[in-house]
Formats: sequence, structure tokens, C-alpha cells
Amino acid sequence: MRTFKKGGIHPPENKITADIGIEILPTPDIVTILLSQHLGKPAKPVVKKKQKVKKGQLIAEADGFISAHIHATTSGMVKSIDERVSSPAGQFSQAVVIESDGQEEWADGLNIDIDYESLSREEKLRKIQDAGIVGMGGAGFPAHVKLNPPPEKKVDTFILNGAECEPFLTTDHRLMLEKPEEILKGLDIAASFFDKDIKVYIGIEANKADAIKIMEERTQGTRFEVVPLKAKFPQGCEKQLINTVTGRVLAEGQLPFDVGCLVHNVATIYAIYEAVAKNKPLIERVFTVSGMEINSRKNLRATLGTKITDIVDYCGGVTDEINQVIVGGPMMGKAQFTFDVPITKTTSGILFINNRGLERSRERACIRCGKCVEVCPQGLQPWIMTDLARLNQFELLPAYGLNDCMECGSCTFVCPANRDIVHWIKYAKVMNTRQKR
Ligand code: SF4
Ligand code: SF4
Repeated sequence: MRTFKKGGIHPPENKITADIGIEILPTPDIVTILLSQHLGKPAKPVVKKKQKVKKGQLIAEADGFISAHIHATTSGMVKSIDERVSSPAGQFSQAVVIESDGQEEWADGLNIDIDYESLSREEKLRKIQDAGIVGMGGAGFPAHVKLNPPPEKKVDTFILNGAECEPFLTTDHRLMLEKPEEILKGLDIAASFFDKDIKVYIGIEANKADAIKIMEERTQGTRFEVVPLKAKFPQGCEKQLINTVTGRVLAEGQLPFDVGCLVHNVATIYAIYEAVAKNKPLIERVFTVSGMEINSRKNLRATLGTKITDIVDYCGGVTDEINQVIVGGPMMGKAQFTFDVPITKTTSGILFINNRGLERSRERACIRCGKCVEVCPQGLQPWIMTDLARLNQFELLPAYGLNDCMECGSCTFVCPANRDIVHWIKYAKVMNTRQKR
């Protein structure tokens, strides 16, 4: 079974919702749509308070090259444009708050069938840009930028990322089972931006045998090749997936197109299909609701801007034992300090957990066991980076690959001295940037 060469771990998978079909969460009365749901500058609002809007209507314009449009996720009236709303990323963002009229009335020309096969490359790219599609695996990088690399970068390999290596999450797994045709059409659309002889791989972790089977059946006799991957974290990170599938290695600072590759995850490719074939902007997404402390675990399709409070109500509430909510997976997700947070384009899961009994005891001195080095998929020396961060030697850290650390948390997971390695690295990144400024 193929996997990446350096490091990696295999935490308990806990894919509790793997067999639960996607359910549609009704749009709540109020949606809070963040204007920063992507990498780059927040979008600029183009609507006013008390303005009536239709579903899918543009409400905020991309501000610059790396930014993305934002659309109304329901029909109704703009209740407010708030300056400071908690985002799942742990920051604050401006948000357009819409009071739904319950009609779910689409703006003209959206959510209709399009004869997309006759469209030119530029027309398809424009549809993806207009729909505000960004990387939905968590990165939030605008898809139209990624699909249009500089002309000197020759992309010869496209990889559909169906690894979903984070424990608990089953979003992409369910999409592959329930929407295989749409995903393959989306993949065909995305691959059509490049040379005809581009190699197209579908990488799926072996713990999703049913998804591998369905994708193998549907791709027989096509140019797509399904690649079963060993279940290992962080198999779904771009660098590791590229290394697994092609053997190519990204050096520090390199992007996938520097080694001729392009990677998009399953949810993004599905959104690309909907944007091009249906003129449908990115206003809803599928995500996993899981963990031991939510009364009903589900895979949900919900309107962007739905708050965690609405999701908790729909899922029958939480138990008294809950002590942590994480948006994303347990390895790379973000702990939330309130349920008053809306879902965004990059919300792949919400976990309601109780980590009592699993708390890390007090950090102890490094015993130089080397386990963190052994598991680091980037080939770094996490223990040295931690020591330097603790000594405030932030300027020395880039030489040890600070910016190459993707904050996967594998080092922290295995450290017998309970060192909060990834937290020290995140702290060092912030301080290093401040010092440079
Ligand atoms: S968090 Fe960074 S240093 Fe730690 S294992 Fe992951 S990439 Fe390596
Ligand atoms: S795993 Fe922990 S104790 Fe072992 S070398 Fe790394 S930091 Fe030190």
C-alpha cells in the first residue's frame, strides 16, 4: 500500500459516522455569513442594511487577487453588517447577517442546468471565480487561482484528494459514496484546464474501502486512476499526498505546481462541478458532526452561516460531560470558546468531545528520545524548535524549518514528556513575523 516516505502517525480513527448518510439541515431563521472564509483579504460588502437579497446573490466582492466572493446563503433581508463576529479560525471577522424570509428564492440564473461542455476554459474559470469556490479541506485558497498557475509552471499531474486522514471526519467519504458521478464530472472539468495528457489520480485511504470500490467501478475505462493509500496521518496534506502518489518531493517554500502537480480535495471538486454545471455559488457544504458528547452524530449538508448553536439543537443537544468543541479534525482543528460561531466554506467537521482523563500532565524536560523527529512528516527537529521558542530565540527558528512546519501535531501526539511542541511552534511563527515587521 502506498504512503509517504517520512514520518507520520496512526491515531485512533474514530470514523463513527462513516455509515451515516448525508442529511440536510434546514436553513435557520438567521444566518451569519463571515466575509473572511478564505485565505487572503476579506471580501468587501456590496449590500446594505435592510436590503432584500435572494439566495445566491453576491453580498461581498473579492478584494484582490487572493480573495473570494461571498454570496447570500438564503433569501431574506440584511439584518446587519457586523464588525466583529467570532470565526471558527479563532479570529474575528466582519459578517453580513441575513434574516431569512423562509422562501429560499434563488437569484435569477442560478442553480440551473448548464450545457457546460461547450464552455471555453476562460468561461469555466470565470464561473468558478464567480461562485467563490475555495479549498474546502481547510486551506481556503481560492480555487480559480489554483487552477490557473503561471504559464511557466507545467502541471502534468492532477490529484483528487480523498484521503480524509483526520480522525472522526467522514465528509469526503460520504460525498464519494453519494455523489460519485458529480465528483467525477467536477474532476473532468478541473482537469480540462490543463493539457489533454495530464495524469489524473484519485487518492483514497484504504480505510474507505467502499469509496475505493465505487470510484474504481465508475472510472473503469477512463483516464482516471484510483490510488489506494495507507491510512496514515497526515496523508491528506498536499506535500505528503504528492510524495505518495508521484514520488516527487516539495522543497521548503515550493508549491505543488513547482513539481508539476495540482491537488484539490473532494468537497472542492464537488463545488466546482456545481459552479460550472449548475451556476451554483458556494453557499452550503457537507460536514461531519461527531464526538462522544453530541447526542446525535451526523453528516450534515448545511447553509453557510448556520451557527454551532443551531447545529447542536438539530443534533439533540450535548451531554453534561462535554468540555471541548473543535472545528475541523482533532489533529489540526481549532478549539472554540463559544457555540456562537457560524460554519464557513472550510468547516469540514465539528467535534464535541470530553477529554477528561486524557489531559496532558505537566510538560516535562525533553528526554531526547527522538520520537518527534521520527514522526515529523516534514523531516524537522521539533524538539530543537521547541527549545528555541521557549528561550525566545525566534530569529534562529527559520533555519530549522519553522515555516516548513504545517502544524500537523504529530510531534505533540507522540511526545512522552508531554511537551506542547506544536503550540510552541505556532507561537514562534507569530513572534518571528512580529520581529520581522
Ligand atoms: S507539527 Fe510541525 S514539527 Fe510537528 S510533526 Fe508536524 S510538521 Fe513536524
Ligand atoms: S518527543 Fe518530546 S521528549 Fe522526545 S525528543 Fe521530542 S520533544 Fe524531546
